[in-house]
Order: sequence, then structure tokens, then C-alpha cells
Amino acid sequence: MSNVPLVDLLAGHAEVAAEVEEGFARVLATGAFIKGPDVGAFEQEFAVFSGVAHCIGVANGTDALELMLRADEMPAGAGVLMPANTFVASAEAVVRAGGRPVFADVDDEYLLLDPAAAASAAGGSDVWGLLPVHLNGQLAPMAALAAAAEEHGLRLFEDAAQCQGATQVGRGAGSWGRAAGTSFYPGKNLGAYGDAGAVLTDDAGLDAAIRELGDHGSSRKYVHDRLGFNSRLDTLQAVVLRAKLRRLADWNTARRAAAARYDALLADVDGVRLPRTAPGNEHVWHLYAVRVPMRDAVLAELNAAGIGAGVHYPVPVHLQPAFLELGHAPGDFPVAERAASEILTLPLFPQITEEQQVRVAEALAKALRSVS
Ligand SMILES: *Cc1c(COP(=O)(O)O)cnc(C)c1O
Repeated sequence: MSNVPLVDLLAGHAEVAAEVEEGFARVLATGAFIKGPDVGAFEQEFAVFSGVAHCIGVANGTDALELMLRADEMPAGAGVLMPANTFVASAEAVVRAGGRPVFADVDDEYLLLDPAAAASAAGGSDVWGLLPVHLNGQLAPMAALAAAAEEHGLRLFEDAAQCQGATQVGRGAGSWGRAAGTSFYPGKNLGAYGDAGAVLTDDAGLDAAIRELGDHGSSRKYVHDRLGFNSRLDTLQAVVLRAKLRRLADWNTARRAAAARYDALLADVDGVRLPRTAPGNEHVWHLYAVRVPMRDAVLAELNAAGIGAGVHYPVPVHLQPAFLELGHAPGDFPVAERAASEILTLPLFPQITEEQQVRVAEALAKALRSVS
């Protein structure tokens, strides 16, 4: 029996191959590898898709978050509040922009930033920004978080890297804060063929500042008004993203169907806790993460059976060696820490078949019986 991969990028490519090849040929014929017309076209299309006025293509999602904070003139040493259970890049971007990550715990049901925990951390000194992370494909509770930001005078941003196409009460990921960073890393719901990312914003001033920062601090050729970076979206990646964006809504629908099928297949399996969709959210299932006891043993059994299960993420950010100087210890964010030892990501991608999902579910049930 063949293995079931965690994600199957080639199955996605097969659906867009003809368009991508035709688009690549067009770019190769013109030589417009940087700032070609496909970049501006993609930016406009993704802004419309996301329900915002401006999209700025950049080199990757981490740069998107960093440039967004720099463009908004985050003061040196400013605190930016975020959940403890996120990909390291959320915190890394804050430090690289000259700020300091301030962590708060998540709720136990959805593992999203808990507005009450955020509000109590927001009172700390020098907390300037709030950066909810739309984990695994659903939005953090934005109305409550926006209210907390307002009450404490914090600027609201979004890490929308895992959430392309998701909505909450009908409003899209990336359209709630002053700006949002997103990533087109190949495995994301909208994935490029290499690194790529974007900032979304309704603010024309931020749009201009991010474009300038990402292009060597220049808005006019050979005039460099400030020290900048080289962080642009390549034309070839824009070709891929345009072709995939046309299918994203259908692919997200396929992900929801696959998640519903796992829900049904696993409903009666003892010991497994299924992921749930928070009220008001339209989930896009970037990851389908269950919680199980004896996670590492279960993961090893699944991998041995050819199931490409994974863990996102086994060590919460506040306990990563890179952030030791923030002075956190185990026990600081108990919900995120317990989740890190229990979560298990099952294979899910738009083209996954029922047969593959049945195999995953059977292997998981078997692994759980053998460890209990
Ligand atoms: C992928 C991801 C990023 C960073 O994206 P890169 O493009 O890899 O730099 C940031 N935050 C979250 C939550 C992510 O999942």
C-alpha cells in the first residue's frame, strides 16, 4: 500500500500545470523577473479576494509580518501580544522589527488566542500591538480581541499565514486589523513554488511604506529615502499564485469536505479529541489537528504505517531556546503547553481521497489501541 503524505503538493500542481507553464513561458519571453505585470495583477486579485484595499507582495511571510510592523513605526522595544502556540515566525518577526513578543495563553477548545488572557497581558508595560494568529485555518475571535485592543490602546494586526480564504461572521482573514501578514510557503492553502508572502491592509500610507521598505527604501528609482530591505514577490511566483488563487475557494471547499469526513470516521474512536470550528468561523482547514494521549508513541506508529502525520508545533514558542532571554518557564501558559504534547496533525490536502482518509483513520484507531 502506498504511503499517505501529510500534504501532496504535486497533486495541486497537476491541476494548474498547464496555466503555470503557459505563464512561465510568457515571463521567460519578456525577462520581467522582478516587478513583472503578473505581480501587480496578483496583488490586485488577492486584495479583492481578501476584502481589503491593498496587497503588497513580499519575499516570504516572516518578512510580511516584520515589514508591516516597521511600516507602522513600532517603537524600539515595544511589546507585541501573541498566542504562545504559534509558528516561531510570528515571534521572530517581532524581534527582527525591534520589538518584544509578549505571550498569552489560548482557549482549550480551539487553541486560539484567549481574549481574556490577552486583555490581562495587555495591561503590561510597553505593550503596543496585538497579533492574533489564525491557527490551522480558522480566525481567532476577532470581535473580542478588537475590543481588548481598543480598551488597552493597542494596534491590532493579524498573522493570517494559515488562513487564506477563511472568514468570521462573513469577514475575511486579514481584513480585521490595521494590516495582516500572510505566507505563500508551498504547504500553505495558497502556496507558491518557493518562498513568497504578502501584507494586506486598507491603509494607503502603510501600503506605500511597505512597498518602499521592501524595495531598498526606495519609491523612486535610485532615490533611497530610508534604509530598507530587499523583499519582493518574484514574477514567476506571482504566476503560480494567480493560477492557484482561481482554485482556492474550490480547494478550501474540498478541505472542508475532507475535515468533515475525518470527523465522521473518527467520531467513535476512543481517546481522540477532534478539532472544532469556533462559532462564526468558516474554517479552511490548513491543518487537521486532533489531540491524543501518548502522542509521540501514536505518531511513531502512524509514521511506521506509512501515514505522514506530523506535529504543529511540539514546543511552544515561549519555551524555544531562541527566546530563552524572555525568561519563560514551563507552566507559564499551561493550555498551550498541554496542547503541544497532545496535538497530532493528520494528512489533509484538497485532493486527498476517501480511501486515503479511511487508511489514516484505521491506522490512528489501531495506534491508539496499541498504546493504551
Ligand atoms: C508559515 C507561517 C509564517 C511565516 O511564513 P514564511 O513564509 O515561512 O516566512 C508565519 N506565521 C505563521 C503562523 C505561519 O504558519
